[in-house]
Amino acid sequence: MAKKEDFTPLSKLGEFKLIEELTSNFTLNQGSSILGIGDDAAILEPLTGQTLISADSLVEGVHFDLTYVAPGHLGYKAMVVNFSDICAMNGLPTQVLVNIGISNRFGLEFLKEIYAGIKAACDVYDVDLIGGDTVSSYSGLNLSVTAIGQADAQKITKRSGAQENHLVVVSGDLGGAYMGLQILEREKSVFQENPDIQPELKGNEYALGRQLKPEARTDIVDLLEKLEVIPSSMIDISDGLSSETLHLSQSSGYGFALYEEKIPIDPTIYKLCEEFNLTSTTVALNGGEDYELLFTIDPKDYDKIKGNPNLTVIGHVTEKGGECKLITRDNKLLPLNAQGWNSINEKNY
Ligand code: ADP
Ligand code: MG
Repeated sequence: MAKKEDFTPLSKLGEFKLIEELTSNFTLNQGSSILGIGDDAAILEPLTGQTLISADSLVEGVHFDLTYVAPGHLGYKAMVVNFSDICAMNGLPTQVLVNIGISNRFGLEFLKEIYAGIKAACDVYDVDLIGGDTVSSYSGLNLSVTAIGQADAQKITKRSGAQENHLVVVSGDLGGAYMGLQILEREKSVFQENPDIQPELKGNEYALGRQLKPEARTDIVDLLEKLEVIPSSMIDISDGLSSETLHLSQSSGYGFALYEEKIPIDPTIYKLCEEFNLTSTTVALNGGEDYELLFTIDPKDYDKIKGNPNLTVIGHVTEKGGECKLITRDNKLLPLNAQGWNSINEKNY
């Protein structure tokens, strides 16, 4: 970690030196990466299958708050959210480009920490940083990332392939990232009222980790391959289970039924929901940023995924043109709506 007093203004460096300082320790490890940073464009040579490309931005004040997000975590998360989109197509990420918009508020040390987070994610996921762009911003920090991935053509999974009676499956558990954000927002307001009070974060490691250092489920893409299951449709959960289910439904043209009692929620998250007076089902349905995978499978594949601790069947696909419904614990039918992340946290849109 850089010390607080270390501040090297970017104006001292010039663009070339800055890019070199930030990227000189990145190496190319993917066979498809022919040329990385340093020329006008990178060169890739696709090895097999088809190429997946996806872009996503993180904007200060909209997607993150530097009062409680460390720059290393921010760099890591900016990578992960993009890798997650590649996973959602049933592919694996291979290369990434990073466009960064910065103002003179930020010094070299801070940017180096962001790039340490980027490097950590590239190492964990075996992804090559092959380029990007560095520009001035007058409106805070801006990270715009493009991820490239690869998958066999017959394996690629779109949102549109769900069929009647297919099972709805989710990886991991839901609601953790949203509760992590609640804790951070609470501690921020406590701190603003009395800067002498130290943040109370102990015991909430799971929720905080889900918010600050999410992971992309490349392990689920590998698992599905091993189990010989190709989902009929898939999406990653960035905005909440409810809105992602509606996306699968809209793209496929079928209705979906989810069972409240089946939605996987970690015990520590249940406890936090009680503490914050929130309904855990609402948090799982509408809280975002868990980056789990939501997918449908042919019921004949059920035996292959049955009992796997990483996967939970939470519902099924209903009739053509049908609606999306939640079947509650007391057997009521509630329509799913697209509240998503937006309405429970106005800062995110
Ligand atoms: P150009 O002027 O041709 O756009 P740049 O000077 O912007 O070239 O970039 C030089 C090299 O550094 C290119 O390979 C580019 O992809 C890479 N690069 C620039 N900014 C970044 C960044 N923020 N992160 C990673 N690579 C970068
Ligand atoms: Mg450029």
